[in-house]
Amino acid sequence: MTALRFSGPVLPDGEVRDVYVVGDTITYEPQPGATTEARGWIVPGLVDAHCHIGLDDHGAVDEAATEAQAVEDRDAGALLIRDCGSAADTSWVHDRDDLPRLIRAGRHIARSRRYIRNYAHEVEPESLVETVAREARAGDGWVKLVGDWISRDEGDLAPSFPAEDFAAAIAVAHEHGAKVTAHCFGERVLPGLVEAGIDCIEHGTGLSTELAQTMAERGIALVPTVMQIDKFPQYADAGRDKFPQYADHMTDLHARQRDTIMAAYELGVALYAGSDGGGVSRHGNIAGEVVAMAGLGLPADYALGAASWRAREWLGWNPHLSEGAPADFVVYPRDPLADLTVLREPSYVVLRGRLVAGRAA
Ligand SMILES: [Zn+2]
Repeated sequence: MTALRFSGPVLPDGEVRDVYVVGDTITYEPQPGATTEARGWIVPGLVDAHCHIGLDDHGAVDEAATEAQAVEDRDAGALLIRDCGSAADTSWVHDRDDLPRLIRAGRHIARSRRYIRNYAHEVEPESLVETVAREARAGDGWVKLVGDWISRDEGDLAPSFPAEDFAAAIAVAHEHGAKVTAHCFGERVLPGLVEAGIDCIEHGTGLSTELAQTMAERGIALVPTVMQIDKFPQYADAGRDKFPQYADHMTDLHARQRDTIMAAYELGVALYAGSDGGGVSRHGNIAGEVVAMAGLGLPADYALGAASWRAREWLGWNPHLSEGAPADFVVYPRDPLADLTVLREPSYVVLRGRLVAGRAA
């Protein structure tokens, strides 16, 4: 078998190297007869830490549509995906070597009639713990809670469950060896979740600096989904007639998002990139999220690391393209750290040692 060779600066350190692909791993040992496939900037496989495979605006989609979503993400360089909730059972994706590596959080768990229709297991507090235990057993080490959503009674964002129920849910997930993350737009739900030892917060627009400090100390991650937050003004407009307080709240959270996220970063909270593809956002756009994160003021290497080496390490995968690492990487025609928009135009995508997108794919 002829090995493939890719040459160029290998990020994050940028050392110029010849990377050989042998089987499904990489080596720096020169391989006789290797064919040079490409030169370019070589980046460890991108990570989309908040994506929804098998989901569209109306709920679960069939296997063909699920596959198309996964291929779209893959061809955009996202080779490791933390699925943040899907109404479809996508466990079969694990059996497909040509599709991204997938870490499933099972199906979202929300309060009855308090989330997007057809998305979640919708439960009352008395069934929360058993539902979390079931999803923890069925997933790949994560459980996704809907922390808050609009309450039609209050006319504003409100926590989905009382804090003590959330705490019991987090405890039972941990007993099952699963980590917990939660969708959180507003302020009120956050202190209880952080206090209860949640592992990650999605969106997090309601974070105070005090809570961000606690998150940093306890190693609780934040996946801000900046492109999703940019839709808050649309959500506010859609709800303004019936729920003016909610509309004002969403507008305010949006207006403060840069300060909120940058304060979390400066306090040392680990931020990761999530496109929120699926449902209301499109697949195949992890590049857009990295660019959006950098647009808030995050350094380019931090924003790219949030979708590559740092995120890989967080999720238990090889952060770097070290000797013997899985051959999951993306090659770009220019230096992404000098211009992150090049992430939109990968030259080659290599997954499990196979060229899945690019010239010879
Ligand atoms: Zn989402």
